[in-house]
Amino acid sequence: MATLTSPVSISLENENNPWLAAAARFEEAAKRLKLDDGMRKVLGTSAREITVHIPVQLDDGRLEVFTGYRVQHSVARGPAKGGIRFAPDVTLDEVRALASWMTWKCAVVNIPFGGGKGGVICDPHVLSETELEKLTRRYTAEIIDFLGPERDVPAPDVNTNEQTMAWIMDTYSMHARHTTTAVVTGKPMALGGSRGRPEATGRGCMMVTLKALQLMNRSPEDTSVVIQGMGNVGGMAARLMKAKGFKIIAIVEYDGAVYNPGGLDIAALQAYRKETGSITGFPEAEDMDRHEAMFLPCDVLIPAATENVVTSQNAERLRCKILCEGANGPTTPLADEILADKKVFVIPDILANAGGVTVSYFEWVQDRQGFFWNEQLVNERLQEIMDESFDSVVGYARTHQVNNRIAAYMLALDRVAHAIKLRGIYA
Ligand code: NAD
Repeated sequence: MATLTSPVSISLENENNPWLAAAARFEEAAKRLKLDDGMRKVLGTSAREITVHIPVQLDDGRLEVFTGYRVQHSVARGPAKGGIRFAPDVTLDEVRALASWMTWKCAVVNIPFGGGKGGVICDPHVLSETELEKLTRRYTAEIIDFLGPERDVPAPDVNTNEQTMAWIMDTYSMHARHTTTAVVTGKPMALGGSRGRPEATGRGCMMVTLKALQLMNRSPEDTSVVIQGMGNVGGMAARLMKAKGFKIIAIVEYDGAVYNPGGLDIAALQAYRKETGSITGFPEAEDMDRHEAMFLPCDVLIPAATENVVTSQNAERLRCKILCEGANGPTTPLADEILADKKVFVIPDILANAGGVTVSYFEWVQDRQGFFWNEQLVNERLQEIMDESFDSVVGYARTHQVNNRIAAYMLALDRVAHAIKLRGIYA
């Protein structure tokens, strides 16, 4: 049984291992909270790990068997919540780490969910739409006893989307014999999705960045921003922050980077990318080496693409004042120490990108009520939660003299441990 409580030693060789990164932060927070050994074991172990083998008849008539996982790390504060990814390199270790991350993220923003994650080992780019639908439906059927609005509520993740959620919702509903929209979030609007969900993660990043600026007595107008990744999170953050007055001076993508010290026209850049397939060559900016753009002097850096981009090998070179982690796990534990020495104000992923799961929570609430909110209400409620969570984390960091990331973990562990203590151990 793998638990998060094994002794953690992070070296250069294993710096990028997500399981060890989760374990290192967990250990540090647990130690500072003086959690007893028993509680450490409970919080450090998944409540349930399901492995399924999924037969699918491919379009050419052949039978293939795929392996899938669903891990429920904790259901102490409510149903498990977390995405499902389809990728060739999915491992149970990765799914476990991501499930625990979701527990802490939901606890940081204080929404009544535990943490879960799922994954299927497959290459979705070589599967047809029909094959993907069969795979999704059979995976759902295999884990159906553990799913449900009160049990476990999946969402999209890497290589899954609204359509995948619609198939899961339909499969679950066919078995339940009634439509159950609240079994997944991130659904299409026509099937009980929430207004504001596509923008939510990027909007949440902007909200916490604004809070950090307030602490520094700065305004968006005199704040320069570099964003890595112009997908859902980075693209939305760029658009919304530009509208708020921030100067987005560079965007970094996997195939290049563009730079304009006077500020990029984000709408024009997005239209250009749509037309040409790339951001490079954008007429209103200079092309830049994508490996260098992250190190431009700027006020805010938002890594919003992928994990392990700020490491012990490059953290020293960052020249931002605020690091707002739009992506999950963009900073390694070894890099954390360097950033602390450099006095970079880090808004950790489990806070910075929690806008997405927060609006997913709103989607679940609206589905269960059968009553849908307008976008303004969604955004106002998101703002309330992001502001309050930011204040709690920063307040916790001050009180306990720790950095923001460890403060976020401590706050989360404390909330989950408190819920477990109140409930008691059933047996
Ligand atoms: P996405 O696929 O929509 O966008 C990612 C973008 O990053 C793409 O444009 C891609 O081309 C670019 N990219 C990929 N690798 C890159 C690299 N090495 N350098 C530069 N650019 C690169 O994905 P997303 O939904 O925006 O998610 C981004 C990150 O945010 C992931 O870590 C994800 O887990 C996390 N996240 C997403 C949400 C959400 O609501 N979408 C919520 C919480 C966390």
